Amino acid sequence: MKISGKQLELVDRQIKRILNSGNYYSEVYKKAGITGVSSAEDFEKIPFTDKADLRNAYPLGIQAVPDEEVVRIHSSSGTTGKPVIIPYTAKDVKDWAVMFARCYEIAGITAKDRIHITPGYGLWTAGIGFQAGCELLGAMAIPMGPGNTEKQLQMMIDLKSTVLCATSSYALLLAEEINKRGLRDKICLKKGVIGSERWSEAKRNYIAKELGIELYDIYGLTEIYGPGIGINCPDQTGMHIFDDYLYTEIVDPVTGEVLPDGEEGEIVITTLVKEGAPLIRFRTHDLSRIIPGECSCGRSYPRLDTIRGRSDDMFKIHGVNMFPSQVEEILGMVDGVSSEYKIDLAHDKVKNKEIIMITAEADGRVDFLTAGEELKKLFKSRLNVTPKVTIVSLNTLPRSEKKTQRVFDHRDE
Ligand code: ZN
Repeated sequence: MKISGKQLELVDRQIKRILNSGNYYSEVYKKAGITGVSSAEDFEKIPFTDKADLRNAYPLGIQAVPDEEVVRIHSSSGTTGKPVIIPYTAKDVKDWAVMFARCYEIAGITAKDRIHITPGYGLWTAGIGFQAGCELLGAMAIPMGPGNTEKQLQMMIDLKSTVLCATSSYALLLAEEINKRGLRDKICLKKGVIGSERWSEAKRNYIAKELGIELYDIYGLTEIYGPGIGINCPDQTGMHIFDDYLYTEIVDPVTGEVLPDGEEGEIVITTLVKEGAPLIRFRTHDLSRIIPGECSCGRSYPRLDTIRGRSDDMFKIHGVNMFPSQVEEILGMVDGVSSEYKIDLAHDKVKNKEIIMITAEADGRVDFLTAGEELKKLFKSRLNVTPKVTIVSLNTLPRSEKKTQRVFDHRDE
């Protein structure tokens, strides 16, 4: 979707504000000779930015307003290197809540709902975003935060929570516990709003079935407000992204070329009205596509397809690019195999050969050897690699409340 006249105006205003602020990006744009934008062509000449810039500008180099206008900071955890700090003004905090309340409304959640919030509070943007949107909507927030399954289940039953907000991994863990303890009849959940980690259909179906709930994918990242910048509507045809606050592009992750609607690539986001830390053409490293055309629900917000994975999760084996999502898809095809897995990549020095080892879980009904063989055949026929497959019992692999690391590369060891 080409950038609209209104959006261009907003970007132009952002660039001028950035240049006046003297922040990190003002230097970048001055060097590049960027003074504003008046056409889509101008816009596409603005250099991309990503997390590396935000790290270079640590701690507050991207702040574009005076200190007295900053009311809060958030930080993205970052598994490697320095964290990233994002300052917010009062308007940024409010805008985020407005978008988040809109997400709940699109999911059919109302002021009568009781929203059980399990994402973490604190430096991380998650919990507080879910909470602010809930309060703006007028629903009852149950601010649990993660962990303590015992207490989660007790509160969920006693307070009759109707909406569960969680990462897919944590929703799975809770679904498994509810199933194990036979509590299904005691819970009142109707909907799940699940954070933007990529997840498989198998996992999705398991959670929906075990908890008997409708699931909504919420999108977002700390650098761009946080979760709540988009969600699927009940027609389940992709996540609507709020184009009055954000402009979304899809680019080729390798060449950076802007791709037409419908083609898969990396999501690049521009904040149109953010004050504390405006970002223009921020590379998210999330892979998806813009779904062409209008949604059957009648909302005109553009739609992003399910997140396919991360461009930085991509790994190369025998010279072929592979994504964890492809592995997950295959696991979903074999009966009794769960959606949890671990991939180890190694180099057999004796044979000078790369090895891919996949550890997956299966439940007790199935024969582990047969399931393993079936998986091997599917990998060979679909991805043209033959992994070593180990099947372990259900719940052997670690579950985590945040993003689980699944690919371990030992090839340099
Ligand atoms: Zn829709």
